[in-house]
Parts: sequence; C-alpha cells; structure tokens
Amino acid sequence: MNIPFVDLKAQYEEIGEEIDRAAASVISKTAFIGGPFVKDFEQAFAAFCGAEHCIGTGNGTDALYLALRCAGVGEGDRVIVPANSFIATSEAVTQTGAQVVFCDVDDKTHTIDIPILKSLVTPEVKAIIPVHLYGHPADMDPIMELAEANKMVVVEDAAQAHGALYRGKPVGTIGHAGCFSFYPGKNLGAYGDAGAVVTNDSKLSQKIRMTANHGRSDKYDHLFEGINSRLDGLQASILSTKLKHLPKWTDMRRRNAGLYNDLLKGTGVTTPPESSHVRSVYHLYVIRVPDGKRDALRAYLSDKGVATGIHYPIALPLLKAYARLGHGPEDFPRASAQSADILSLPMYPELSEAQITYICEHTRDFFAEK
Ligand SMILES: *Cc1c(COP(=O)(O)O)cnc(C)c1O
Repeated sequence: MNIPFVDLKAQYEEIGEEIDRAAASVISKTAFIGGPFVKDFEQAFAAFCGAEHCIGTGNGTDALYLALRCAGVGEGDRVIVPANSFIATSEAVTQTGAQVVFCDVDDKTHTIDIPILKSLVTPEVKAIIPVHLYGHPADMDPIMELAEANKMVVVEDAAQAHGALYRGKPVGTIGHAGCFSFYPGKNLGAYGDAGAVVTNDSKLSQKIRMTANHGRSDKYDHLFEGINSRLDGLQASILSTKLKHLPKWTDMRRRNAGLYNDLLKGTGVTTPPESSHVRSVYHLYVIRVPDGKRDALRAYLSDKGVATGIHYPIALPLLKAYARLGHGPEDFPRASAQSADILSLPMYPELSEAQITYICEHTRDFFAEK
C-alpha cells in the first residue's frame, strides 16, 4: 500500500466540477483583483470565524506581518513567539523591525508555555503570537489575561487551525487579530498562495486593508506607503467553494485522529493530547516516539510505503536564520526534545480506515521487532 502524507487530488476528485465552475466564472467576469469573489469570500470567512471583519491577503506570512504592523508593532519593540512553529511566525516579527523573543513550548500541546511566557514579559514586549500548532488551540485565557495586564497585543497564528475551538470560541477571534494561511496543504487550502486576517476591531481592519493595498484610499490616492498583498479573485472563488465543505472535512480529520488514537494504544508512542476545553482540527497528527527510535520508525514506515513528516525538525531559535541570537538547545529544552522525537503521520480528510489500520499495524510491528 502507498499512503501519501497529504492527498490534494482526492479532494479535487470529490469537488472538481464545483471548482472548475467557480474558476470559469471568475475568468468570464475578469474579476481578477478585488471584486465580488473576494468580497464574498471575505464575508463568508468572517461569518465562519464569527468575526466582524476579514481582510484577504496574498498569503499567511503577510497576514501576520500586516496584523503586527497595523497594531503598531515596529522598531524598538519585542514580540514573543513560540520556539516550535514554522519560520513565517518569527519572520513576520523581524519584517516589522521588532525583535523576536522565543518562548519554549508546553510538553503536551506543543503550544506556547504559559509560565515561561510570563517570565519573558518586559516593558519592551509589545505583542505575543500564540500559534495553534497542528490545529490544537494554544491556552488563550491566560495569554489574554497577561496581555491585558501588560497592554500587549495578541495576534493569533491560526494558519493551521481553521475552525478550531477554544472554550467554544473559534480561534482567530480571541486575540486582537487572527491570521490564516490558505496554502494548498492547509485545512482550507487555495490553489496557490492566499491568506487572511480576521478581527473585530474596525479601525485595525481598515488599516490592514489599506496597508495591504499600497496604502490607498482611492485608486490613486495613497495616504502612506503600504505593500501589495491581496487575495485574488480566482483563489477567493476556490476558497468560497471549499469553505462550504470545511466542517465536513474537519469532522473527517477528527474521526481519523480518533481511529489513530485507538489503534496506536499500547504501541508505546504518545498520541496527541485531547482535552475537553479545546476542539483540535488536526491539521497534522503528531505522535512522539520514545527511546530515540523516531528516525528508525520513519524509515520503517517509508519502506512500507507510508510517507511521514517532521514539524519541525529544528526548533525555530536554533535555525541558522537566528544564529545572531546565540541560542543553544539548553535554552529551549522542550522544543529541542520535541524536535528529536515528533513524527507526523499522514492526515487528510479522505484518509481511509484501511489506510490508518495499515499505518498503525506497521507501527505496532516495528516496536515488536525491536
Ligand atoms: C503555513 C504557515 C504560515 C504561513 O503561511 P503562508 O501562507 O505559507 O505564508 C504561518 N504560520 C504557520 C504556523 C504556518 O503553518
């Protein structure tokens, strides 16, 4: 059996006709930049999140940059970011001119660690970016309390967590702004690059919309210099089409995670955390492999035709890109330990029970043979 890590084709086979119709309609109306398709998607996605505003952007990295910059983050400021994430989270901070401050992560949820976060707050810290990593919400209540007490802005990185809930609230709407990526492999994926910011703050929303569109208020009336980062009509029409299916796809991901959890019991691997106050959307299904056997298990599964991933193999502060900060693994013991034992198993809605059973049986065999 050959099992890919993600299977975008399986999804296209289900909804290909709808997608083709949506794209053809954009082309026949030549509504490529701005226009009704972008507006429709922004409204639909705001409603999906329960947010007042949604601003489409060129990608998720720009969404983070725009939210930070428009919330007033810039030179001389510091922004706290978890030590395990995709580099986009910290890149966006540097782009604003602010300094990144890395925070170690929780041992179970892989999201920002609250006690350590508290210890990192100084007067220069202007913002926090909690990342809902793998689709599992960060612990937002203490983060919001801390932010309020210290007048900090909270920009949620929800790039992996479309539709995830924290104490019943959709992620992205708990902080001052929430940033989403619609990179093709994300839970809601475009057919190219795309992203969005959601917020309930009308002033912030207006500022982001203008900044993303050359600082213009009118076609050639530019109030300040912005950037060019817009959601395009084709991507918007595809996203609107797919958004209707997202709740069902999320249920399928959660069913798959439940199957994995059951079938991996007793193998010795640690399965992802489940807790009653969050609803994870399983962008990734990440296990932890004991006794230094992660790479061996990965090779074993690869031999059986199962593709896996590591998210992420090097903790953010230890990347060459951050050598200037002079960090070592001892500064982030948990993120460092996790990067050595985490393994992402195949996860997508269309993954079948037979495929999951196959993966889990071979995982069990691996430990039985060693
Ligand atoms: C994908 C991702 C981003 C960036 O999104 P792009 O659309 O690829 O720019 C940011 N943060 C996290 C955690 C991501 O997974």
